[in-house]
Amino acid sequence: MLFPKPMDAETETETETDIGALLSNEMFVSGTQVNYYVICKTKLWLFSHFVTMEQSSDLVSYGKLVHETSYGGTKKEIVIDNRIAIDFIKKGDTLVLHEVKKGKRLDKAHRYQLLYYLFYLKELKGLEDVVGELDYPLLRKKEKVELTDTLKEEIRAILKGIQKVVALPEPPPPSYLRICRKCAYFEFCWV
Ligand code: SF4
Repeated sequence: MLFPKPMDAETETETETDIGALLSNEMFVSGTQVNYYVICKTKLWLFSHFVTMEQSSDLVSYGKLVHETSYGGTKKEIVIDNRIAIDFIKKGDTLVLHEVKKGKRLDKAHRYQLLYYLFYLKELKGLEDVVGELDYPLLRKKEKVELTDTLKEEIRAILKGIQKVVALPEPPPPSYLRICRKCAYFEFCWV
């Protein structure tokens, strides 16, 4: 496949875009898209255009198994607006959204995915006391995630960036990453 010239979605100038429009049905942003935006723009484009090869990846199946078997397998995923899927929620004085991951190699993407969930619940649903926690049961580690004003702006910029990548007529050219060999799209990009 021919790839268009690379673009830097984050640095392009942009007029103020209404957050409601960014999250409208036409621009349906999921947590997975935020995750892929941070990892690889090619992956984001392919996924967003329904080039789905994920089910063939053993790595993805293993990740799903970690989700399903951690914490006694008792936690139920919570899907909101068909857009965000929270692994589980704990309710106390503060609502804690939990995202379960198997390893920390993609921890930046994990963090922004969870930040987007917090952003979504705070900005669109009006919840105030909500924080996040990344759980790595295989590593016996947890990481608190809180949405600051600066991070809110970063999420807004990511949403605009996603919109631009998805609107491209063809996928952005791939850049080889350490994770490529384990990516479901490896053959598409490199073979
Ligand atoms: S194989 Fe590499 S470049 Fe291609 S989509 Fe996956 S992570 Fe991106």
